[in-house]
Amino acid sequence: MDNKNFRQHAHELVDWMADYFENIKDYPVKSQVSPGEIYSQIPDSAPKEGQTFQQIFSDFEKIIMPGMSHWQHPNFYAYFPANSSYPSILGEMLTATLAAQCMIWDTSPAGTELEEKVMQWLIKMTGLPENLNGVIQDSASSSTLTAIITAREKYSNFEINENGIDNNRKFKIYCSTETHSSIEKAVKIAGLGKNNLVKIKVDNKQRMDPEELSKAIEKDISQGNRPLCVIATVGTTGTLAVDPLDKIAVITKKHDIWLHVDAAYAGTALILPEFRWIIKGIEHADSLVFNPHKWMFTNFDCSAYFVKEKSALIRTFEIMPEYLKTDSASQVNNYRDWSIQLGRRFRALKLWFVIRSFGIRGLQDKIKKQIVIAKNLEEKIQNHQDFEIMVQTPLNAVFFRYHPQNVTDDDLDKLNAKLLQQLDSSGKLYVTHTKINGKYIIRMIIGQTSVTEQDVLSSWEFIQKTASGINT
Ligand code: PLP
Repeated sequence: MDNKNFRQHAHELVDWMADYFENIKDYPVKSQVSPGEIYSQIPDSAPKEGQTFQQIFSDFEKIIMPGMSHWQHPNFYAYFPANSSYPSILGEMLTATLAAQCMIWDTSPAGTELEEKVMQWLIKMTGLPENLNGVIQDSASSSTLTAIITAREKYSNFEINENGIDNNRKFKIYCSTETHSSIEKAVKIAGLGKNNLVKIKVDNKQRMDPEELSKAIEKDISQGNRPLCVIATVGTTGTLAVDPLDKIAVITKKHDIWLHVDAAYAGTALILPEFRWIIKGIEHADSLVFNPHKWMFTNFDCSAYFVKEKSALIRTFEIMPEYLKTDSASQVNNYRDWSIQLGRRFRALKLWFVIRSFGIRGLQDKIKKQIVIAKNLEEKIQNHQDFEIMVQTPLNAVFFRYHPQNVTDDDLDKLNAKLLQQLDSSGKLYVTHTKINGKYIIRMIIGQTSVTEQDVLSSWEFIQKTASGINT
């Protein structure tokens, strides 16, 4: 492909992209293909000779598109969103064009310096403590792994990096039973052992119980273990529960334990000053992660990781091969030492585009509106005699189940699983579920960039109609 062809096809693609967003409601939200259907259409070997853009693009439309779920569809209410926006896509187009590898300052000074500044913007926009240092990571999973490994090094006096894990030293890590699975994965990868992850009970609002945490820590200390890190969640994956950071912080301070805050989804709500109560006590935390790639209209991937003790982070991850030594090192950030991988994409660019294009007020308005839409839906569901709200959250989510009067508690799980299956296979909307106290609950997260109150009301109509058509 030469420059002339590239220009032509790039223009065609931009038209396709704009049409896609204009017509996105024509696509089924959840892909309706069967397992293996896409795989079987792709040749077993790569083509020997180069193919034309038309050939490739025609297969993209014919083979790939049916196998896509449409995460930017306004009726995508599943999991947490990975929402995007026009300015984000434009920023990403430039990142792909420049294709810079921003591992150190010298390899693209703008990559480093824009990232530093945009992370400082985020700190101010969200009311996080100004003594935090920010860096963009690929995901909340990597950010939490980074926090746990840094804690491991800090509290082993950087010895594990030198000599490996000493099996006699039992570090303990704490999180709630509602914590995201990425925590357990991080503990395994960090070599600390899944059996040393202590899952603390939650209260009736799915929040970590600080008294239980305190008891577990004291018991571990009395048995000769070293409590290393507590992971508090602000916005759990199941029901957006908020662990009581301030109470947890009293305990982590008392025992000198690293406190990491996983605000992967709910962190975006901090842009609204009235939601900052969710991080009360944050000044005592050692690190925090939140994902602009979930709810802040910045396409995947873009995870904002903040750490208080920058020196511990860098000392943990620093590598110094001859070829990466530079004269500028003492004056700049070299983000290769702030995370796991060496190579880094220029992710700050799209975030800069998003923040500037929306402005703080634009972001606030959009987030606030989604929260109001969710609250209005919650009220409607609550007032319906055959549905019930199972958990309430102040954020943009609704947790409910279908509960017709003639159905016993035992059959409700099956009934709701059936309802969810029928909703998702309709292609009209996409919801997922969770279980709380053994009960099957349908989750509806209203966080799509283009979602309107009308979309949600139509979805609600459809949910009622589908539910009433199921034989109970
Ligand atoms: N933490 C929480 C609370 C989450 O809900 C999720 C994903 O939904 C994660 C962490 C993992 O996020 P990521 O996909 O960025 O690793």
